[in-house]
Amino acid sequence: LASRMFHPEDTIVKVGNQQIGGGNIVVMAGPCAVESEEQLMTIARIVKEHGAHMLRGGAFKPRTSPYSFQGLGEEGLKLLRKAKEETGMPIVTEVMCLETFDVVAEYTDILQIGARNMQNFALLKKAGKSKIPVLLKRGLSATIEEFLMSAEYIMSEGNPNVILCERGIRTFETYTRNTLDLSAIPVIKEVSHLPIIVDPSHATGKWAMVEPLSRAAIAVGADGLIIEVHHQPELALSDGAQSLKPEKFGKLMHAVKRIAALV
Ligand code: PEP
Ligand code: MN
Repeated sequence: LASRMFHPEDTIVKVGNQQIGGGNIVVMAGPCAVESEEQLMTIARIVKEHGAHMLRGGAFKPRTSPYSFQGLGEEGLKLLRKAKEETGMPIVTEVMCLETFDVVAEYTDILQIGARNMQNFALLKKAGKSKIPVLLKRGLSATIEEFLMSAEYIMSEGNPNVILCERGIRTFETYTRNTLDLSAIPVIKEVSHLPIIVDPSHATGKWAMVEPLSRAAIAVGADGLIIEVHHQPELALSDGAQSLKPEKFGKLMHAVKRIAALV
C-alpha cells in the first residue's frame, strides 16, 4: 500500500486546512515537551508569528531515563488544545502506548509515533484503525524497508494518512546525537508515494546544526520539517541543547522559504 508501484501519484495528507505532500512545505514547530501554560503559549505564539503551520509538543514523553521529566500527560494535551484554539495551528503530539491511545486521539490532529515505537506493531495497528493522520518516525536503527513496513501496518488497517519522518539513525559517529540520513528522502520518494518530513533537531542534538540540515532537507525534496523551539532553551525540561531560540527559528524559516522556491 505504501509502494509507488501501485500508486504512482504522491499522497497528500490533509490536516485541518493544511496539506502535507504533493510539493508544498509544511513546518511543525514547538517545544520538545509541554512544560507549563506560560511556556507553551509563549512558544506557540512565536512559531506562529514566524510562519509555522503546525504546533508540536510532547505531553507523554519517551525519555531514555525513567528519572527524567516524563511530560504533563493529559494536562499537557489540554494546554495544546488551548494553544490550538488561540493560534489556529493543528497539533502534533506523541502517542506512546495503547493505554493512553484514546486520550491522545481525543485531542490531537496528528498522532506522532516515535522512533522507539516504530515497531510497536500493536500501536501501529491501533493507529491504523483510527482515521487520524499519523506521523511515523524512523526507528533508531531501522532500515528504510523496515520503516516502510511499519507504514504498511498502519495502512493495512485502513488508515492511508501516513506521514513519514526521517529523524536520524544510529551510526558509529558520536559527535551528533544521531546521523541524519538525507539519502532516505530521495530513496523514499522513489519507492513510495507517502510524504516524508525531516526532524533535524533529534537528528543532530545540537541547535547550531538544525538550520543547515533544514536547508539540506528541503533541497533534497522533503515535504516539511519538524523543529524544536524554546524561548529559554537553557531552562528546558528536555532537549534544550537542540532547541532553537525564537530569532534562530525565524532565520530558519526565511532560509527554508528561499530554498523551497528553488526546488
Ligand atoms: C520527539 O519528537 O519528541 C521525539 C521523542 O522524537 P524521536 O521519537 O524521533 O526520538
Ligand atoms: Mn525532543
